[in-house]
Amino acid sequence: MGLYDKFSRLANERKQFQTSGLNPFGTCIDEVYSATEGRIGNQKIVLAGTNNYLGLTFNAQAIADGQAAIATYGTGTTGSRMANGSYGAHLALEQELATFFDRPSAIVFSTGYTANLGVISTLAAPGTIVLIDEDSHASIYDACALGGAQIIRFRHNNAQDLERRMLRLGESAREAIIIVEGIYSMLGDVAPLVEIADIKRRLGGYLLVDEAHSFGVMGATGRGLAEELGVEQDVDIILGTFSKSLAAIGGFAVGGEAMDVLRYSSRPYIFTASPSPSSIASVRSSLKTIATQPNLRKKLWNNAHRLYQGLATLGYQLGKRISPVVPVIIGSKEEGLRLWRELIARGVYVNLVLPPAAPSGITLLRCSVNAAHSEEQIDTIIQAFAALKN
Ligand code: PMP
Repeated sequence: MGLYDKFSRLANERKQFQTSGLNPFGTCIDEVYSATEGRIGNQKIVLAGTNNYLGLTFNAQAIADGQAAIATYGTGTTGSRMANGSYGAHLALEQELATFFDRPSAIVFSTGYTANLGVISTLAAPGTIVLIDEDSHASIYDACALGGAQIIRFRHNNAQDLERRMLRLGESAREAIIIVEGIYSMLGDVAPLVEIADIKRRLGGYLLVDEAHSFGVMGATGRGLAEELGVEQDVDIILGTFSKSLAAIGGFAVGGEAMDVLRYSSRPYIFTASPSPSSIASVRSSLKTIATQPNLRKKLWNNAHRLYQGLATLGYQLGKRISPVVPVIIGSKEEGLRLWRELIARGVYVNLVLPPAAPSGITLLRCSVNAAHSEEQIDTIIQAFAALKN
């Protein structure tokens, strides 16, 4: 048996996509001109397949602060915070995140994936029960597996199913950990947090919310879905990433004072290098931008409405909810691939998403808008989809 033999089915499946034309997995974007434009081969494209919700990747201040940090502190930290030490900027950012969320503690991790791995795997030790939404991000599943807890999946966004499963646990529900996301990354729908918070109040347990896609996007001040729905006090830990609205790389957790003990017990915190000075500096800058420019959120939602309505008018089957993530549901993988290539030929880049990344066996063209898209660019996306109907 060869080292890679067990992947032969996967390799064959992927070969189907390597027919003539672009390959949707690992697409090379040859140039990026701005938060909304780039080039693939000879084709100039509108970028409509990112997580750059507030369009801050090219924010002038964030770039200047990132450049200054490289010049002052160097290109990397070359080690973990536990073994090699934190830089002042790591600690300053943690303080700023805690203040932004009005919580006692924040911990910065090297990616959003590592934040989930670091927090969840450490809390979800053997003997613990974790209830997760069945459509949870891979990092949540991986974290539970690493921790060794008992995992109970409940139906996607179904609070009644969660409650049924909590009731079945009896007294142990009091110590169980419930994990959901704010905006789900593929369908753009949101967790029923009001109902879930109510279940937690009645039956006990702890609530963790991964606001990766909702931070900066929802809530009066951009703190996410929990803020938007007025249930922040029911959430024990908020998890997030720097790789979406904050337009860099890294992750975070905010919570109560006791959460700090994770620094000494979380292997994904202890055994990996800390984020680079430039990432931390640009995130600090973008966090300030989020706090001081609520108009970006307004622009983002205007764009989301415009794209959703435009595609709905064309008769496409979309996600149930208007959101910066607009999934266009397609009949088959083959059709998805054809349309994805057609869209690039018409100057629009979206994401082709297949199971298991797409939930429940569907294929979708995941479009995402950001605050930097002009109305003309949104219309370009709509027109490209209109042309596919001809
Ligand atoms: N949580 C969710 C819900 C995500 O969608 C992602 C990334 N797409 C992550 C965590 C991981 O974040 P990062 O890419 O910053 O590691």
